[in-house]
Amino acid sequence: MNPDESERDHPLHLYFMYKATLYLIVFFSFLLLLSSCAVNKSPEAFRFRALQKGKVKDDSSYVYALPYAVGTKHRLVQGYFSRFTHRNRAALDFKMKKGTAIYAARGGVVARVKEDGDKGGLDAAYRQFGNNIIINHSDGTRAGYWHLQHNGIVVNVGDTVQQGQLIGYSGNTGYTAFPHLHFIVWKSEAGNWRQIGTRFLTRKGAKYLRPFKKYKRPA
Ligand SMILES: [Zn+2]
Repeated sequence: MNPDESERDHPLHLYFMYKATLYLIVFFSFLLLLSSCAVNKSPEAFRFRALQKGKVKDDSSYVYALPYAVGTKHRLVQGYFSRFTHRNRAALDFKMKKGTAIYAARGGVVARVKEDGDKGGLDAAYRQFGNNIIINHSDGTRAGYWHLQHNGIVVNVGDTVQQGQLIGYSGNTGYTAFPHLHFIVWKSEAGNWRQIGTRFLTRKGAKYLRPFKKYKRPA
């Protein structure tokens, strides 16, 4: 087909109108997608936002220690119910270099340890390699510390650990895009483990952490 023929079949202005419409459709679908991602509408997510904003005053929940060394600070890169990989998770991601010492956020009994994973990446296929520690607390909750370094765990199943005790070293194993500690607390409800948000002791008192902020662990 020579250019003259195509011109006759598809006049140029129609072609541009078609293109413009297509771009508009793509643009608005993108906006729609963004706005739907922005807010998780589950009741749990609502409750969390209220807690984070300090709207819930009467709070006697346990105060956890930030899970790294006293005087050091790390940025919370993903908070509760955030957009990336935590859309339906009440988990926290603290960005930190591989080999950062991890301390128990709360005392308890070590229930599970995995440290033989030596791979990590942004693909669900890597999930099985995620080294982790699970610690059971006295009130029936349990905490998980994820993506730890290969052979980087210094406690064993059955050990009793105190809050602030060294338990291992961070890494980048499992389903992860960059070196960080993924921290999560579950509560058993009628046989199901439900993820819950927890308060941490910060320099400004007991707070529900907010994403993109750096938190220093006070003495
Ligand atoms: Zn995470």
